Amino acid sequence: MPLCAQPQVILPQRHLKASVPHILSQSEASLVAWCTQHAYPRHKAAQIIRWIHHQGLLDPDHMSNLPKTLRTQLKTAFDWTPLTYSEPHISQDGCIKWLLTTQDGSQVEMVYIPESDRGTLCISSQSGCALACTFCSTGAQGFSGNLSMGEIIGQLWFARQALKTLRPEHTITNVVMMGMGEPLLNFKAVVDAVNLMMSDHAYGLSKYRVTVSTSGIVPAMDKLKEQSECALAVSLHAGTDALRSTLMPINEKYPLKDLIACCQSYFEKQPKRKITFEYAMLNDVNDHSEHAHQLIQCLAHCPCKVNLIPFNPFPGTQFTCTPMPKILKFQAILKKSGLFTTIRTTRGQDIQAACGQLAGDVLDMTPRTSAGRARRKQRQKMHAQH
Ligand code: SAH
Ligand code: SF4
Repeated sequence: MPLCAQPQVILPQRHLKASVPHILSQSEASLVAWCTQHAYPRHKAAQIIRWIHHQGLLDPDHMSNLPKTLRTQLKTAFDWTPLTYSEPHISQDGCIKWLLTTQDGSQVEMVYIPESDRGTLCISSQSGCALACTFCSTGAQGFSGNLSMGEIIGQLWFARQALKTLRPEHTITNVVMMGMGEPLLNFKAVVDAVNLMMSDHAYGLSKYRVTVSTSGIVPAMDKLKEQSECALAVSLHAGTDALRSTLMPINEKYPLKDLIACCQSYFEKQPKRKITFEYAMLNDVNDHSEHAHQLIQCLAHCPCKVNLIPFNPFPGTQFTCTPMPKILKFQAILKKSGLFTTIRTTRGQDIQAACGQLAGDVLDMTPRTSAGRARRKQRQKMHAQH
């Protein structure tokens, strides 16, 4: 049972009246361009970013080191309205989940996961997901829309502010894009957001501590390595095409041969860095010793780490989680072959905040079942009434 109250749902009126771009959707480059265009020196962009992202201020009137004319211009050139978030859901193990209401009226989720040596924020990049992986709750919802850059960075902005009150002794040291959606299908917004997370003017997070997780969109991975230094995780879940395609339909488009070739050269300019492969443990589906050997063969020439994720169940799923002794046996086979392999601790399960359980309340534009279509109709009716 969640320890917290149900989230307070507020409809996204901000988006209906906004006619200017939102300030949180401005990358460093776009603010530099704006300053130059308005005859202000470039370093003013860094100052604005510091106020917003470092200090957490969303009001130009209080940006005391900016000239009055600049503050006035900023006020009218951008939308400064705070985004809409739910009350926190707090798990018994200390995880905190919030929902962000997006411009399409969906709700997407973000989760703060405290550990003894770090604080990780898991954030979303899309409302729903079009890729329909068979073991994923977000995939079962269909796709509703891409988040804007402001809605992506806004999750970090908000969580940092909220923690100041809820857990003043905590800080966010890591961000993982492992919430809802496929980040590399929302490329520009995601790259601008992760680059801002690593900027010293904004959040100053280490490039080793900002991770994009992808199901393996190969052309976008090739682009990502040119445009960002963030860390990369790839969801693998099987060592053969035959099995992977049954779990992840995207494998038909980007099969293992292409995906692994891309991964092999991903960090060639930074040879000490390694990709993490994620592998959800699905009972009697991908967890036999033969599957471990297939995985070893698949990754034979790829510098990497493997992270085994105990499958997190959700209503309606056909899968169950591999029992822990079997996970340990699977891990032992991988380790024996020399693969560095960890097992992820499941967190936040009592508030449906664990990996793959995030479902939010998405206006599903691609319903695949009659139940999905009925849910969508019901939500549209509710939104129309407001
Ligand atoms: N779309 C991206 C990122 C979001 S999913 C991706 O697929 O990588 C984040 C991670 O959660 C992925 O590794 C995904 O495979 C895993 N995941 C999804 N559903 C899960 C479930 N029910 N149990 C455990 N892990 C799951
Ligand atoms: Fe989408 Fe990732 Fe879930 Fe697959 S695992 S459906 S890519 S969010």
